[in-house]
Amino acid sequence: MSEKTLFERIIDREIPGDFVYEDELCVAIKDINPKAPVHVLVIPRKALRGISEAEPEDSTLLGHLLLVAQGLAKQNACKDYRLQINNGEKAGQTVFHLHLHLLGWPS
Ligand code: AMP
Repeated sequence: MSEKTLFERIIDREIPGDFVYEDELCVAIKDINPKAPVHVLVIPRKALRGISEAEPEDSTLLGHLLLVAQGLAKQNACKDYRLQINNGEKAGQTVFHLHLHLLGWPS
């Protein structure tokens, strides 16, 4: 069995995370090293290594992640925000468990 990813360990409460949202498909935690006034990571419970591993069967999950991020932007009074997914080392991915960055600037 492969080792758990950092985010699986956070989801399983083995290491601390600053949770701001969770449901049956995903969790959201504050990024430990924020790059914007609001920086939240939306993380599927399913441990895909990156967006490149997603399959057609994951479309509902992927849509859900986007809507959760949109809801969290609203909740944080952000009309201006960026949603970012890094895939692969050269693109800046450091944690190989799919996650979506919400970078927001409150109004
Ligand atoms: P990426 O570079 O796209 O793989 O994003 C990984 C993100 O995880 C980075 O923005 C890190 O700051 C963040 N990160 C790493 N460790 C933790 C942690 N323990 N809790 C919250 N965020 C983390």
